[in-house]
Amino acid sequence: MKMIVTKFGGSSLADAAQFIKVRDIIHMDHERKYIVPSAPGKRGPGDDKITDLLYACHEAAQKGKAFRHLLERIRSRYEEISDELEIPFDLNSEFSVIEEALKNGASRDYAASRGEYLNGKMLSRFLDIPFVDAADVVLFNREGRLMEEETNTRIANCLRNLPRAIIPGFYGADVDGNIRTFSRGGSDVSGALVARAVNADVYENWTDVTGFRMADPRIVPDAQYIATITYRELRELSYMGAGVLHEDAVFPVRKAGIPTNIRNTNDPKHPGTMIRANAGQDDPAHVITGIAGHKGFCIVSIEKDMMNAELGFGRRVLQAFEEYNINFEHLPTGIDTMCVVVHQKELASHREEVIRRICELVDPDQVTVHENLALIATVGRGMVRNFGTAARLFTAISSQGISIRTIDQGSSELNIIVGVDESDFEEAVKAIYDTFVRI
Ligand code: ASP
Repeated sequence: MKMIVTKFGGSSLADAAQFIKVRDIIHMDHERKYIVPSAPGKRGPGDDKITDLLYACHEAAQKGKAFRHLLERIRSRYEEISDELEIPFDLNSEFSVIEEALKNGASRDYAASRGEYLNGKMLSRFLDIPFVDAADVVLFNREGRLMEEETNTRIANCLRNLPRAIIPGFYGADVDGNIRTFSRGGSDVSGALVARAVNADVYENWTDVTGFRMADPRIVPDAQYIATITYRELRELSYMGAGVLHEDAVFPVRKAGIPTNIRNTNDPKHPGTMIRANAGQDDPAHVITGIAGHKGFCIVSIEKDMMNAELGFGRRVLQAFEEYNINFEHLPTGIDTMCVVVHQKELASHREEVIRRICELVDPDQVTVHENLALIATVGRGMVRNFGTAARLFTAISSQGISIRTIDQGSSELNIIVGVDESDFEEAVKAIYDTFVRI
């Protein structure tokens, strides 16, 4: 029988009505055995996330300020849910433990983790499925880094005897037993760890969007949803997935060959987006899978005659950036030019020093900086098999009178990255979308 690990994000559990939707989703498919909930999120624009309120509580407690009113606001959010759904749950004793702990200097991670902990307990009562405290199975080292293999063994051992369980997301404990959390949005990671440990057939990640779109809907309002994407394509489109899935949630499931299915709690019949290790025979609907991009880059271009014959030239150029802690994004090179594409923000504060250092290290003929650049990644596993994709892409952009400042195609032929002026960004994305999707 198939087995599914199901993670619900904060907006999916923000109030009683959302709890009911979650219950219906769980009941709809009995293969949904293990559930990983987030803390209640925003009920609408302007509302607070429980996690943010918990951080605020901790800050106040640390400064010796009153925090009771904040804790009361958190309590009332849980109380509304438990009252409305008649969940038998002793909030009073839970909150007096938390209040005491905060008064006694409990850590920031401990405070934040209580959102998921309480939500997990409440959901466990509501669905009548056993609760497993993540502190007992998700292990961190003293530096707060996840110990993935130990965690995998602990979760597997614990869940072996539990046909169903609710394991709260976002936190675990370190080797000394102190509560630790992942970075924000980390319940996605917890869900992926559980999926890997129980060798799930699918890791479902329920949120408030119906999967990934082929392009940012703020630029292409009717952009189609992507039915299937590979983990590699998603990495290439990382600008796009960023808001939906925590970056670290990809690795445990990808390694284990488990697909991740992005689903919408508010539209449960929609199949969402399936992220697979390998798309196999599954032919993509279009030559391209998606387009993503970002503004705020610049190109530092270094010219020198006979650069190609100078051993170590590239390394020394990159050393200049490394010395100032600047990461490079891309490295398009010609025979006598080397271009380093970097985040403008990162370069800004050290621009003159970096240029001076490049001059010292490689004695170039010329160094120029082209600012206000946007990078657009067009990604698709279908591109390899389709002749002339690059030509179509460049024609699409240039026929709009947009000039392409830089081009970078990975040898995997999975993506083509172009740089255009920021002011041309939206038009270029639309042109690519129209050419490849609206045919
Ligand atoms: N509740 C945590 C946060 O708001 C973790 C999560 O939702 O994944 O970041």
